[in-house]
Order: sequence, then structure tokens, then C-alpha cells
Amino acid sequence: MTIQMKPEVGINTNYYKVLEIKNLTENTFVVTLPKSRFKFIAGQHISLSIEGDYQSREYSIYSAEEAEHLEILVKEVEGGYFSPKLKHLKKGDLVEVHGPFGKFGLDTKKQVTHKHVFIASGTGIAPFHSMVKSYPNLDYQLIHGVRYSVEAYEREHYDAARYVLCTSRDTNSDFNGRVTEYIRQTAFDKNTAFYLCGNSDMIFDAMEILKDKGFDRDSVNVEVYF
Ligand SMILES: Cc1cc2nc3c(=O)[nH]c(=O)nc-3n(C[C@H](O)[C@H](O)[C@H](O)COP(=O)(O)OP(=O)(O)OC[C@H]3O[C@@H](n4cnc5c(N)ncnc54)[C@H](O)[C@@H]3O)c2cc1C
Repeated sequence: MTIQMKPEVGINTNYYKVLEIKNLTENTFVVTLPKSRFKFIAGQHISLSIEGDYQSREYSIYSAEEAEHLEILVKEVEGGYFSPKLKHLKKGDLVEVHGPFGKFGLDTKKQVTHKHVFIASGTGIAPFHSMVKSYPNLDYQLIHGVRYSVEAYEREHYDAARYVLCTSRDTNSDFNGRVTEYIRQTAFDKNTAFYLCGNSDMIFDAMEILKDKGFDRDSVNVEVYF
């Protein structure tokens, strides 16, 4: 299988009016913005600020490279400064988008020779959503770790045979336990490119487990959220 990747894209600053805030759970939501001429490579992130506010935060792009709109998937962090403000944005509110940034994209050198295993915790699924939607023929396995099965954000967007839900606090999933425990118990093809995204505890534990399984650092790409 050959995946045609886009060449490097430049960094832009754009002011956009919010089109929609769609709630997926009580505290997780998708923000939809116009895309206009904004170009990015699946896996990259933007820096976002709200009109009249001096702070900004990074968010992985959730939507596909060629989608009509630009989307991000956000969890409202209790006591956080920025994410609760995002949640309360209304249609028509103005936000400032910088980017795209980052190199957390598919490894083009391994696209034919390797399997792609995506390992996400929580909203760390966002860049993988963009990759899967951008490259419909991609041979991937997505392992998603959350606490409760309700956090399987839009799982219907993925091929059911390629998506594994790991829940640590309920049993309504494919695997009852942490995503790291699933990885520990799973055998992977030796030609696998791993992509890890989410919180640092999960990522560092997963990297240790993969190292113990014989995968070197070059096999593992990481995007740490916090
Ligand atoms: C490259 C990059 C991409 C990111 N992409 C996303 C994304 O797609 N979706 C997303 O929701 N967040 C993403 N984040 C995290 C995001 O930038 C903010 O840190 C998050 O929204 C919290 O901001 P806040 O101002 O509400 O919290 P702050 O007031 O800044 O408090 C920060 C604290 O919130 C906690 N925290 C941060 N993010 C999360 C989270 N997702 N879940 C639970 N606790 C968290 C941490 O413990 C951190 O110490 C990304 C971060 C980076 C560096």
C-alpha cells in the first residue's frame, strides 16, 4: 500500500469564527472552525487562543487533511484555565489559530514495510483520528485507553476490527485494564511503527514495555500532551 504524503506546509496565523461546539461526553467536545486555506499534515497540532485572552494552548488537529472544516477534540480539565473557556465558546466567537506545528506524522519511510500501531490515552486519540480519516487505506491498529467506555470518542469512525478500547474503570470494553497492560499482554509484529499520544505517564510506561519487547527507540514516535 502506498500513502501519498503532503510536502511540508507553512505556518499561518488565522482568525476564525467558531462554527460549532459538539459535546461528545459531559466534559469532552469537538470544536469546529472554518478551514479556509489552512494546510496541515495529519498528526500536527495548532496553538489556539481566544479573542481578548492572552493565553494559548496546543491542540492536535482532529479532522482530516482534506476535510471541509478544521476540528479539534478537547477535554475540559477541571480547574484548568483554558479548556473550560473553550467549552463555553459560542457559535460566532472569534479564536486565533497559529500553526500547524509538530512532526508527529506518519513515518513515510515505513508506510509499506511496517504496520502502524496507534496507542492513545483520552483525547490523545485526536491525531490518529486525523490520520485514519486522511488515509482511508491505512493499515493500522488503534489502542485507546480511557477510564470509562463512554470516552470512546466517536469510535464508530474507526474500522471496528482495528479499534481496541481499554477501560480501567468499567468493563464495557474490549479490554478491562490500562492501555499499558494491554500492550504488555499483546504480541506485535517485529516490523511495527508505534505512535504514542496522550499523558506522559502512559507514554513513558508504554515506551518501557515496548523496549522490553525488543522495539528500539526508532520504532516509537511520541506526542506528549501533559
Ligand atoms: C502538542 C500538544 C497537543 C495537545 N492536544 C490536545 C488535544 O487534542 N486535546 C486536548 O484536550 N488537550 C490537548 N493538549 C493539552 C492542552 O494543550 C491543554 O494542556 C489542556 O487543554 C489543559 O489546558 P487548561 O488551560 O485547561 O489547563 P491548565 O490550567 O493549563 O492546567 C494544566 C493541567 O491540566 C492537566 N491536563 C492537560 N491536558 C489534559 C487532558 N487532555 N486531560 C486531562 N488532564 C489534562 C495537566 O495535569 C496539567 O498539569 C495538547 C498538548 C500538547 C502539548
